[in-house]
Amino acid sequence: MQQRMKHWGWGFEDKPETPPLVVRNVESYFSSLFGIREFKPVPIPDLNEAIIGAPRLNVPHRFSGFCTTDKIERIRHAVGRSFLDYATIYSNRYDYAPDVVAFVRSEEDIQEIYNWAVQVRAAVIPFGGGTSTSGGVEPIVGPDFAGVIAVDMRRFNRILETDHVSQSARMQAGATGNEIEAALKTNGYSLRHYPQSLQHSTLGGWIATRSAGHFATLFTRIDDYVQNMRVVTPAGVIETRRMPPDGAGPDPDRLFMGSEGGLGIITEAWMRIQKRPRFRASIAVFFDDFLKGCEAIRVIAQSGLNPSNLRIIDAEEARVNHVSARNQSILFLGFESADHAVVGQMDRALEICADHGGQFDREVLGHPDSNRQAEQGRWRDIFVETGYYREVTTPRNIIYGIMETSITWDKFPTVYNSVMSAVQAAIKEATGRPGSLSCRFSYVYPDGPAPYWSFYCLGSRDEMKQQWKHVKTAATNEFLKHGGSVTHHTSIGRDNMLWYEKQTDPLFRKSLAATRKVFDPAGIMNPGVIYPSTR
Ligand SMILES: Cc1cc2nc3c(=O)[nH]c(=O)nc-3n(C[C@H](O)[C@H](O)[C@H](O)COP(=O)(O)OP(=O)(O)OC[C@H]3O[C@@H](n4cnc5c(N)ncnc54)[C@H](O)[C@@H]3O)c2cc1C
Repeated sequence: MQQRMKHWGWGFEDKPETPPLVVRNVESYFSSLFGIREFKPVPIPDLNEAIIGAPRLNVPHRFSGFCTTDKIERIRHAVGRSFLDYATIYSNRYDYAPDVVAFVRSEEDIQEIYNWAVQVRAAVIPFGGGTSTSGGVEPIVGPDFAGVIAVDMRRFNRILETDHVSQSARMQAGATGNEIEAALKTNGYSLRHYPQSLQHSTLGGWIATRSAGHFATLFTRIDDYVQNMRVVTPAGVIETRRMPPDGAGPDPDRLFMGSEGGLGIITEAWMRIQKRPRFRASIAVFFDDFLKGCEAIRVIAQSGLNPSNLRIIDAEEARVNHVSARNQSILFLGFESADHAVVGQMDRALEICADHGGQFDREVLGHPDSNRQAEQGRWRDIFVETGYYREVTTPRNIIYGIMETSITWDKFPTVYNSVMSAVQAAIKEATGRPGSLSCRFSYVYPDGPAPYWSFYCLGSRDEMKQQWKHVKTAATNEFLKHGGSVTHHTSIGRDNMLWYEKQTDPLFRKSLAATRKVFDPAGIMNPGVIYPSTR
């Protein structure tokens, strides 16, 4: 029996409690910031009372073994885990929901669903773990469609074989991070791709959205681990050749990476796996000035040291998450290896930090679990619980939004300053009062960082979605204006389409549309994501 995500938030149905740490962080920080003596959260929504329209499609008898129009399943597949999704969940009103949920068991089931969808003019939305934070699984497909079929991939959850010589494993696309890691651990391996959503998100979702995981430098994205894949498209099955990186023309794997369900359904992939690390060292470095810390990161990122962890959080992020009250930015630096000691790299990286005014206490490095000590331990603890924040903030009318980009170093200081001021202004315009805004780096490259902003503001229940949109728009406009990307790792989805179209060259978009015609001639695959829908 597979564990399921609870319908109103994060974590599993059979262990539904919110971690007390998260409730404490939210209530204590935001009661004082917003001057609220006691929060009165909206109760957990009762699915039986949820408002949802009747299904518009009738399931043919031959599909009754794996398709359903059950209300609860339709609701579960109507949302991901973005702020807008949480606002929908706590309103308990679903204006958009799939008409049918197909729990496909085989590639043949998927092909049958495609044929049926073309016949009845339904849109097909692949559904992995449903952790999209950008509207990727939201069934808003426009008026051209007579209905929506959500294709749930969770029955494709096995690790099929392991090649110990080439250190790689063949996995099904519906396996979650937890399932993958548990299976690989039995042989001492790890995929070592840990997005914050690890427990619920799936291999297919990661490849389809080009997710980013454990490593802050070098092998940040899932792209680097894919050896080959199998994709069931409406035009047929395509299997790419299993190889180490090669140079034979444009890379077919790259065509499907980031396709967000718009070309077909990824059913399995051979993935590069790794031995688990034996040597680790981790330390927190404090900076009085956030931008000075960022400069230290740039120098380390360009040094060839390639730390596994190289992230910085500003003082506000440290305060909101109760990591530190020192009013300083904190750079988290970590090295790991399955093969050799990492002391030399750590020493050199710390030298660079010291050159930029970083302060640190080396004593922690003597600890075998240095990553679990002091500030880095507190950051680690809250980092793995972040998924729970919105089930605490949303029912308390607190809008918690994130925005992230990817930008070259030369432009970073400008985009940083302009986003900080544009978002503070937008929060005030939208809600009438200031909120909390913080910045961190989630990933860094020799040529630029992936900065990530979190904001919290007090919204009003009926206007939360518009308030969030106002703030997000302000930030994303700045990203594009200053040469950044609409996203580094949380995908395009429906929420970022407007900017994705601006970011990409028209000729590229034309070639993408032509490619889609080949794999999906009837245009049924996840309309509105990657390709504009007609709504
Ligand atoms: C708390 C939280 C933390 C997060 N942290 C990270 C992070 O650290 N790094 C990161 O990159 N992202 C992160 N995300 C975003 C999200 O987890 C990723 O985008 C993830 O890759 C989605 O995987 P999923 O299986 O949940 O996909 P879903 O949400 O089910 O789907 C996402 C998109 O992929 C498509 N899709 C899903 N499965 C398939 C398939 N088999 N074939 C084709 N298309 C498919 C869907 O149609 C949709 O467009 C986070 C999200 C949350 C809620």
